[in-house]
Amino acid sequence: MPDPEFLLLGDALWLDFVNTTAACTRPELLPDPAAYLRWTKAVRVDPPGHAAAFEEARRLREHLLSLARALDGSRNPPPAAIEAVNRSLAMLEGREHLLRVGGSWQIRFAPARPPTALEAIARSAGETLANPLALVRRCANPECSLFFVDESTHQHRRWCSPSRCGLGYRVERRRRTRPTPLLAES
Ligand SMILES: [Zn+2]
Repeated sequence: MPDPEFLLLGDALWLDFVNTTAACTRPELLPDPAAYLRWTKAVRVDPPGHAAAFEEARRLREHLLSLARALDGSRNPPPAAIEAVNRSLAMLEGREHLLRVGGSWQIRFAPARPPTALEAIARSAGETLANPLALVRRCANPECSLFFVDESTHQHRRWCSPSRCGLGYRVERRRRTRPTPLLAES
């Protein structure tokens, strides 16, 4: 199987977006508008409709990176990041409606048109922030910097992916910490 261009291991659209920065994956995965277009296809969101969309996306991504870092460090979200998310959501039109989910009522937002890529990304960030059970973490492998959201019951997730980092990192660490064999006595 060919290597995928993008690592989609964040379990949240906005973290998959943040994970394209050079701060998370070297090199930068969205260096130009063509790469951004391929990313929107890979994550199945509306492709950018105008030329300025790429620069807008990169600006939002910087804010979201600072948001992910703050949440991973148990700090308050930077106000500028919240403003950026709200700005992206401001144009989204739709209606609220009640829905029965798993035996309880929830109020849901139904967009009147397919959200743009940035609206979908901002909404994903908003959902994580609004969910007290969602933790943003960074992969425990120090050589990997991918962010992910942990919504598991016990919130014990440590790796972006057990096969990519979990197992490989544990084997490597065991190899590094193995004591140096003593020289055989002559
Ligand atoms: Zn990892």
